[in-house]
Amino acid sequence: MKAENYADIVTEVDKEQAEPFVPMAPEIVQTSSFYFATYEQFMADSADEKNHFVYTRGSNPTIRSLEDKLAWLEGGEKCKVFASGMGAISSTLFTLLRAGDHILMVNTIYGEAVSFAKYLAKFGVVLDKIDVGNTDEIEAHITEQTKMIYFESPSSQKFEMLDLEKIAAMAKTKKIYTVIDGTWASPLFQHPLDHGIDIVIHSLSKYIGGHSDLVGGAVIGKTNLVDNIFANGHQALGAVISPFDAWLAIRGIRTLPVRMAYVDKAIRTVLDQLKNDPRIAKIDHPYCGDAEQQRLASKYLSGYGSLFGMDMADEDFDKLKVFVDSLRVVSIGVSWGGFESLALPSYKGNNKENLVARGLPISHIRMYVGLEDPQTIVTDIHQAMDKAYGKI
Ligand code: PLP
Repeated sequence: MKAENYADIVTEVDKEQAEPFVPMAPEIVQTSSFYFATYEQFMADSADEKNHFVYTRGSNPTIRSLEDKLAWLEGGEKCKVFASGMGAISSTLFTLLRAGDHILMVNTIYGEAVSFAKYLAKFGVVLDKIDVGNTDEIEAHITEQTKMIYFESPSSQKFEMLDLEKIAAMAKTKKIYTVIDGTWASPLFQHPLDHGIDIVIHSLSKYIGGHSDLVGGAVIGKTNLVDNIFANGHQALGAVISPFDAWLAIRGIRTLPVRMAYVDKAIRTVLDQLKNDPRIAKIDHPYCGDAEQQRLASKYLSGYGSLFGMDMADEDFDKLKVFVDSLRVVSIGVSWGGFESLALPSYKGNNKENLVARGLPISHIRMYVGLEDPQTIVTDIHQAMDKAYGKI
């Protein structure tokens, strides 16, 4: 370009391309706003912001590219991406529920999602948090006011599966929205929309990002539902992902199949060697579940996520501390889905009542198997158990 003044350099440098090129990696469109060639175009685009690039708080080409990929992976009509999984969850509930509505949250669910649903009491939304051993039991909790059944399958902490088709069938006749947080299985191992569920939510911060370096979320479903969540939840609450984080998530999608195939194999290798250890009272993961859980897993999952729960044999805080602090390869840390294996005890020294209410002992630990050699992880868990209990 031929610059004549400072503004030419600052604002017009991107309008001309010195030499045509095709980058192998996608480009990041790191901009807050977009130019319009004419006033006409500005009026048309800003009247339909969900389909046009006006301002990145609405839409952006890098974010759109991620949304198209996620919609395709889930087999959904449309996807909207958010700044976090919680941004996606809160925007969905905020948009689809109104005063007088009843929301059923089934089995263990990511805690902040339950807290947000509870908070909606302030706006007249009634939450029922129920625990069921069997999917059929949900029906008895549906009322005239029920507007949404929200669940995870497998669930957080206890990793119990529910029957997606039964939930979809009981909700359809009563015009109840069904919403699943599908983060555990990723969009590769489970396709809830194919089984009649209305909305799938993902935290992109886990497997999709895959490297513990981004926070994001997504909502996928029919166009009219996603557009409604865009127009209200996304636009009003402003949980907007940055183009850079969207770009990182796109990069994550490039290796998602390879990483998921790896963890599917790794988790089975690890659980096969832990499930008979007398120092472990219980493992919560569909691979180790009863016949009904395994039936549901074979019906709905094409692979296993590598997040599981483990109860140490004794409800002994000292043994729990020795075990967790003795781990050398597995680290202590929140979140999951990245390279590194993690251990996260549910007990924080002051929340026993809370755990009891969820049916968890204080010795419950959420474990994540990452991308290290699974044998190294087993050896690490065994040596830490040896420190807590002595060798077996
Ligand atoms: N859903 C599940 C199953 C999670 O484990 C998390 C964890 O953080 C979330 C949702 C929330 O996602 P984010 O941390 O991206 O807000």
